[in-house]
Amino acid sequence: MGRVVFIGAGPGSADLITMRGASRLALADVVLFDALTDPALRALAPRARWIPVGKRGFRDSTGQTAINALLVRHAHEVGVVVRLKGGDPSVFGRLEEELEALALAGVECEVVPGVTAATAAAAATQRPLTRRGTGRSVSLTTAMTREGRLHASRCADTEVFYMAGKQLAALARQLRAAGWDDDTPASVVSRAGWPDQLHSDHTVRSLGRAAMLHAGRPTVVTVGAGAAAPAKPCAADNAQAQPQTCTPLSL
Ligand code: SAH
Repeated sequence: MGRVVFIGAGPGSADLITMRGASRLALADVVLFDALTDPALRALAPRARWIPVGKRGFRDSTGQTAINALLVRHAHEVGVVVRLKGGDPSVFGRLEEELEALALAGVECEVVPGVTAATAAAAATQRPLTRRGTGRSVSLTTAMTREGRLHASRCADTEVFYMAGKQLAALARQLRAAGWDDDTPASVVSRAGWPDQLHSDHTVRSLGRAAMLHAGRPTVVTVGAGAAAPAKPCAADNAQAQPQTCTPLSL
């Protein structure tokens, strides 16, 4: 009986995988991989059998059952099965179902974390998700309910919405209904961590305008404290200066 290693591939280019993820991947006999993972990762396990189990054909609950069965079957046949997931396996990755199926079958598992889309977007835009004084909490939320309805919330100072890319205008309406002010900053990033990542700045009022730019691309929407552009310090200021209150120098 083999074992299954869940590895977070990170949300973009292959070099966003962790060193532990890369070294476990190199041990794989079989890799079951998601659509959003970088094909360049194949170079880390060239002798493994790579099996796509991404979006198309595997999206609904029947698809999930098929993936669970594939994991169990391959774990019985080879030594190391890698389940390579986009971003972090523990964030909107259906990890629970797969771990449960493997536990029922008595298969040993390990989970290697990865960089999630929310933090990749924060890095890409240089917008920290937490801010001293104004951003004390962060919430990762899927904009889509299980029934396929759009849902927005206001549970934290910074709210990052996954899976909202297709319905940004509707998300804006839901955000208002959830109590976010029209002028709240909203930062939209698609394909964070890839060379072609895109970022646009909005407010809750104008969020719908981001739809065209990011259409058809994996997108996260950051709302609230973590979406605001950090104030730039003035060149003339010293270490004690308050960036928020300084007046930019006109050169
Ligand atoms: N486990 C993944 C999330 C999978 S759910 C993670 O931790 O990142 C899929 C959703 O993640 C997409 O609909 C999109 O909202 C977001 N996403 C994944 N990759 C992304 C990327 N590179 N840039 C922006 N959003 C991304």
